[in-house]
Amino acid sequence: PLILGIESSCDETGVGLVRGIELLTNTVSSSMEEHVRFGGVIPEIASRAHLDAFVPTLEQALAEAGVALDDVDAIAVTSGPGLAGALMVGVSAAKALALATGKPLYAINHLVAHVGVGLLDASIAAAATAGELPENLGALLVSGGHTEILRVRNIAADVELLGATIDDAAGEAFDKVARLLGLAYPGGPAIDRLAREGDAKAIRFPRGLTVPKYMGTAEAPGPHRYDFSFSGLKTAVARCVEGYEARGEAVPVADVAASFQEAVLDVITAKAVLACRENHITTLLLGGGVAANSRLRQLAQQRCGAAGITLLVPRMSLCTDNGAMVAALGAQLVMNGVAPSDLAFAPDSSMPVGSISL
Ligand code: ATP
Ligand code: MG
Ligand code: FE
Repeated sequence: PLILGIESSCDETGVGLVRGIELLTNTVSSSMEEHVRFGGVIPEIASRAHLDAFVPTLEQALAEAGVALDDVDAIAVTSGPGLAGALMVGVSAAKALALATGKPLYAINHLVAHVGVGLLDASIAAAATAGELPENLGALLVSGGHTEILRVRNIAADVELLGATIDDAAGEAFDKVARLLGLAYPGGPAIDRLAREGDAKAIRFPRGLTVPKYMGTAEAPGPHRYDFSFSGLKTAVARCVEGYEARGEAVPVADVAASFQEAVLDVITAKAVLACRENHITTLLLGGGVAANSRLRQLAQQRCGAAGITLLVPRMSLCTDNGAMVAALGAQLVMNGVAPSDLAFAPDSSMPVGSISL
């Protein structure tokens, strides 16, 4: 089936076209530049940017693929999780298109789409058999808005959340710490670069939620051992920087960046591998903007390799938010005979992973 996918959950307006597991086009317009001076995504600005960008992005995608709206078999749109106002723009546009063309509409989960996009990557599709993702698949999603470990038994029917952050997302921690160090937004790439000149062992920053006494038990439910916490780490970096300043010493920014980055990535990769081992997961797919991080790729490769887990990293344009990932999941739903959504659905900013479509 030929699927049109629409993404607007954060600061990227994405329209993608996918036929089965074949990527036809992936057009993305980002409002990231407009958020730079605020040091983070401002929801109202993102919503307005989606409004401005949607029609040009749609037209460009159709033109690039040489496809007319009439040729499309179904439309898929991100219905959550994400920023409520931003989601509303994509969902309203998708509903309007579905109404005008009479095409079925699929209201789909953004996080699950980050996994489904793996099917579009040539190297991964080659490993996938008969257009299906590998069996016993896990996913580690790390971006400015999320930090999750998922178990995917069937991309169209059975996806389970194993662990998630209880406070800041990993990318958000990079952005906040970069700001503390006087680096520009988005902080991830800046810290990644600076960290290469620093000593990752210079400062021992806390590894959040790795000490058993802080975790829930059967009697007193609390964070699970696959959950993450990065707000304590961010505070520790702030205290560390203040310490140097109070002593009148220059802040060793490269060492702080490297040590902070190592603390985040050590926990993320260790927990992802632990979750894989304990849940018979043999293939781990990486997704989200933080997947661009060079140290994350290296550490994940090392640790997965040592544990006998195959690591799959889709190309970067498919890791960050885009419309093709939405179309890819839409195609899987169509091919698996999942019923389209009732047009009365509303976007759900906290749509749970277990709900693959509405
Ligand atoms: P969502 O969470 O909905 O996917 P988002 O816009 O917050 O949306 P992305 O666009 O996927 O997320 O990724 C942006 C995040 O990735 C930012 O927090 C940025 O700092 C981080 N990032 C980008 N490159 C790197 C890198 N090399 N190292 C670490 N973090 C990075
Ligand atoms: Mg983004
Ligand atoms: Fe995303």
